[in-house]
This record gives sequence, structure tokens and C-alpha cells, in this order.
Amino acid sequence: MIQEYKMFINGEWVNSSSNKKIETLNPENNEVWASVPEANDQDVDFAVQSAQKAFDSSWSKLHPRERAKYLRLIANELRENAKHLGKIETIDTGKLFRETKTQANYIAEYYDYFAGLADKVEGTVIPIDKEDMQVTTTRVPIGVVAAIIPWNSQMLLTAVKLAPALAMGNTVVIKASELAPVTLLEFAKLIEKTGMPKGVVNIVTGLGDPCGKALTQHHLVERIAFTGGPETARHIVKNSSYNLSQVSLELGGKSPVAVFDDADQENALNGITAGIFGASGQSCIAGSRLYIQSSIYEIFLNKLIDKAKKIKLGPPMSDETQMGPLNSLKQLEVIEKNINDTVQQGGVIKCGGKRSSLSNKGYYFPATIIECENHNLPTAENELFGPVLSVMKFEKEDELVNLMNDNKYGLSSGVFTKDLGRGMRVSKAIRAGIVFVNTYRLISPMAPFGGMKDSGYGKEAGQESIKEYTRVKTTWFNASRKPMSDPFTMG
Ligand code: NAD
Repeated sequence: MIQEYKMFINGEWVNSSSNKKIETLNPENNEVWASVPEANDQDVDFAVQSAQKAFDSSWSKLHPRERAKYLRLIANELRENAKHLGKIETIDTGKLFRETKTQANYIAEYYDYFAGLADKVEGTVIPIDKEDMQVTTTRVPIGVVAAIIPWNSQMLLTAVKLAPALAMGNTVVIKASELAPVTLLEFAKLIEKTGMPKGVVNIVTGLGDPCGKALTQHHLVERIAFTGGPETARHIVKNSSYNLSQVSLELGGKSPVAVFDDADQENALNGITAGIFGASGQSCIAGSRLYIQSSIYEIFLNKLIDKAKKIKLGPPMSDETQMGPLNSLKQLEVIEKNINDTVQQGGVIKCGGKRSSLSNKGYYFPATIIECENHNLPTAENELFGPVLSVMKFEKEDELVNLMNDNKYGLSSGVFTKDLGRGMRVSKAIRAGIVFVNTYRLISPMAPFGGMKDSGYGKEAGQESIKEYTRVKTTWFNASRKPMSDPFTMG
């Protein structure tokens, strides 16, 4: 039976004003399993107005420690409901249950982390160059934040926006992805259980246009936190020209990974596997371009192929499964097209490369490795968001750095070597927001996350990120006994 969900606006469960619905598929069999409201401009306006009201009347005025208490309550709810949330996320996205349930539990740490930071954001007293003036800066909340979330890793990508925004006194309207909207509505039930004032957190479901567009253009929205693809990001930036809000963008990647001939090969094999085949490669930091030093090229590539061939495809709820289905037909089509084009241009498939026969309903795609003469072949250049690794050869360190930097994205990267100096040099030279040395695919509330170049701007997680949800306010305080001097000069 199809499960019907409502949106969470102003502390209430509501349908869209048009009563229109979006159906959401279970990627394991591509059957409709739930429906959610399709929000329109009017619904978005209701959510933003509610958030503004909550901002003005209560939330921004609460002491940070009071706000922190609610964040800790969210953390507790997440821990208690991690299995349930994980199951829903797996059904809605096709991601492995072993990952979604552990992630839901770990996401609690993000709320605790920002709860701890809430009362530690301090202002300054400026050593001002004016007599008898006391000038201070304080960090104040911004207002209503619009958080736009993609379908993958949505609990994490919500936490890194919602937790710092709430801690600093902002109120939030979250737009869930139309491809997998249900997890966030289940999360809204947990928010409701914390007894948070109504309107502080609102969750809407709808299409990019009109729902996401109406939200990011809304005149009361003052901050947009976006995670998604670069094409959508271009719309977001245009939309923000209507409300001139502050924008942060966490976009895609085509992250390079290098293996030097002195690397611990078993460690490198595991790191590369985690990087590109974890979550079936549907990860923004997927390490999808691999450069192997020529002296170990054949031997290392063969070991990697052996490992990839053994990866177990299967139903995402099963504990045995290592790779589940792709999220959507659109992704399958992008992957297939890029592989075909690459093969036509000389790329050689070493394993995988064709849709698996495991199911004729779910879009299962095996771990795929393609040898490429150069990294301008389509699979080596474009973000595929799938389990496809393009492999190239390199000779020397300097050449490698140029190759790693030669892509429009700059989100993540990896280096495997036992030579500490080399690891340092290469990691410094790479133009990417994240570098993993002798490891890959790790996250933490303490570690800033985000990209450079076409991978976007603004960091999420880590101490600094909380400031991205504040504005600096400067206060001039005149302590002089004398009246102000010449009113017709400034200085
Ligand atoms: P997407 O860009 O298609 O959609 C993201 C969100 O934007 C969805 O909620 C969508 O409804 C909304 N949207 C679409 N059009 C809009 C518009 N005109 N105005 C406002 N909102 C609009 O992305 P996706 O397919 O859901 O996710 C995959 C992409 O996200 C990949 O490129 C991936 O690399 C990226 N991603 C990045 C990170 C990161 O932290 N850097 C993390 C996960 C995913």
C-alpha cells in the first residue's frame, strides 16, 4: 500500500494547497511506495512566513544555551530512531541499510557538536582609533534560511545546515529532494517530538521548479544553503538575485586519487574501493579519477580489478550487500552514455561496464573500471554519480599534480604514499577543498567540508561554519562627555 505523507509547516502536518502529490519510487524495484505533497508558491510562502514569525517572536531571542537544548533533543531522537530512519532512507534512495542506519546514528553527533558551540560564538571589542568611543562587534542571526537538499546523504546534508543555523538563532525552511523526500518528513516527526516552537523548522516537498525556485527567490529568505548539482546551482544563484540573500554552494566533484609506487597497496585498494564503490559511487566526494604510478601500474590495476569483481551487488536492506541499486533511471542513462562515448574514443573496460542482470526492475550497475589513455575521455572528465572508475598512468610527481588539478571541479582528492614529504607536497598542491592522505571517505562534525572551483563555496561542519549563519553587527558607543564635533565631516 502506498504511504501518504504530509509536509511539516508551522508545526502542523499539511497537504499542498493544490492537493497535488509527488510519488516516490523504491529504487530496489522502482515501484511507487509513498506519496508526498507537491508544494507550490503558496505553500512555500506559508512556510517562509511561519519561519519569519518564529524568528521574530521567539527563536532569535532565546539564549543560545536554550537553543542548544533543542539540538541535543534532536540528537537523542536521532540515536533512538536511527534504525527506523535508516530503513526509510534505504527504501526511498536505494542506499545500503548498513550505511544509512549507521549514518543516522552518527548524524546525532553533528547536533551535539553545534549545541556545544552555540554559546561559544563571541563578539569583539575593537581597539578603535577614536577617543572615547567603545566599538564592539557581535554575531547576530541572519533570519530565515532556505536549505535545499539533494537526494543522497540527506540526513548529513541537512544536519550541517540545520544545526548551525538553529544554534545561531535562525529559523529554517528545508526543501527535500523530489527523488527521495520521505526521510526528511520522518525526521520532521522527530523535530515535532522535541517540542521546538512552531515555525522554527519547516520541511516542504516539491519539485525544483516551482517549489525550490519559489523558496530561493522568496523576499523573506536571507540565506540559502544549497547542496546539489552545478546546473541547479546556477539557477540558485540567479534566484538569489531576487532577494539578494547570502548563498553557499556544495556541488559535485570529479575527485582525483593517486597511488605512488611506495604506497601500502592493501590500504590503497581499500581506500579506492571506499572512494568510488561505496554508496555505488553516488557520493559527491567519489574518487572517480585514479592515477597509478607507471612502475606499479599493471600489478596494482589487476589487484583492483580482482577486488572490484568480487563486490557483491544486491538488495540494499541485506547486510551482505556491498553495492545496491542506482537511485534513478536518469543516473543509469548518464552512466551508460558516458561509458559508450568513452569506449568509442578508445577507453577499455576492464570490469563491469554494463547494467547487471540481477533485477529487471532495479537499476543495478556493477563496479566498473575503465582504462583511459587520457583524462579528457568522458568517464574521466564528467561527474557520473555512479560506480565507475577511470584509470590513468603517471610517471612523476609534478606531472601528477598537474593532472590532478586539470578538471573543473575541486571537491575532494586522495593520495596514497608512504613518503610523508611527498604526501605533504602533493596535498598542498592539489586545488580541492578536501585531501585524504592514505585514507578516503571520512566525515566528522569537526572537519570542514566543501569545495573549490566548480565544486562551490562555503564550508559545512567545523567551528568556522557556524559563523556562516551569523552576520557581524558593529556598535559604536560614545562615552564622551563632550558633544559630537563638526557634523559635516566624517572621520
Ligand atoms: P540536484 O541539483 O538535481 O537537486 C538538488 C536540489 O535542488 C533538489 O532538492 C531539487 O529539487 C532542487 N532544485 C532543482 N531545481 C531547482 C531550482 N530551480 N531552484 C531551487 N531548487 C532547485 O541534485 P541531485 O541530483 O539531487 O543530487 C546530486 C548532485 O548533488 C550531484 O552533483 C552531487 O555531486 C551533488 N552533491 C554534493 C554534495 C556536497 O556536499 N558537495 C553532497 C551530495 C550531493
